[in-house]
Amino acid sequence: MAKQLRDIEPIRPLLAHRPLAVFSDIDGTLAPIVPDPQDAQVSDRGREALRDLMAQGVGVGLITGRDLAKAHEMTGLPDAWYAANHGLTLSIGGVDETPEAAREFVPRVRDVIRETAGVEDAGVSIEDKGPIVAFHYRRAPSPGEARSAIEAALNASAAAASFRVHEGRMVVELRPPLDVDKGTALEELAGRMRAGAVIAIGDDRTDVDMFRRVTALREGGTPGATVAVDSPEAPDEVLDGADYSVDGVAGVEWLLGEIARALRVIATSGR
Ligand SMILES: [Mg+2]
Repeated sequence: MAKQLRDIEPIRPLLAHRPLAVFSDIDGTLAPIVPDPQDAQVSDRGREALRDLMAQGVGVGLITGRDLAKAHEMTGLPDAWYAANHGLTLSIGGVDETPEAAREFVPRVRDVIRETAGVEDAGVSIEDKGPIVAFHYRRAPSPGEARSAIEAALNASAAAASFRVHEGRMVVELRPPLDVDKGTALEELAGRMRAGAVIAIGDDRTDVDMFRRVTALREGGTPGATVAVDSPEAPDEVLDGADYSVDGVAGVEWLLGEIARALRVIATSGR
């Protein structure tokens, strides 16, 4: 069970390692959850804290289920590294990469959307994310009925059968059955950054893959810490899977600001 972080003392030892890498989910972690997912934005405070970290040489990797264009739009941080679409799209030093294995799933997503269009009658919004398709039911008049409608439509869709189903906060996602997740994305980005220590922050079930990978890195000799975002919607497995927790997006903003501040103190006193 995650221990609530009230100050950064427990993670201070990580700050001595260079380069330090900070990996964060976006929705519900840096961007408050809003009724229409299209309106979600990273707050100015969070953006400034991440900019401050990057200016101090910290590797910032944003790991999200969103597509790359939306992730850029939400963060306003062109210099950060990204793993979008749960790692199915990477952006490293401004260069986009799509794993070849994922490309064949782009036309199949269009087939799924055509075959399941009826769910929109239940208030579900369908999001085409290239090799992934997301069914959002947060805004449905009856989320329970919408969830059942999605399940029925997916069972009836031939194209859906070649995907893996993942559940998130008021969203059902179909992803290619590839061994790519937020955890493999974190490891890829950490490796390319040659990270000396890693911190991972997330709020949802898919972020547990990041936490597990940080634990594996730690066992391999790379120090790291995992931080869960606590909220009334936080799944137990997220809190169970992390070393520490902070309260909501505001808690994440606080944590990033404290890390930036501590690094500045270290840099100043080291001179
Ligand atoms: Mg999230």
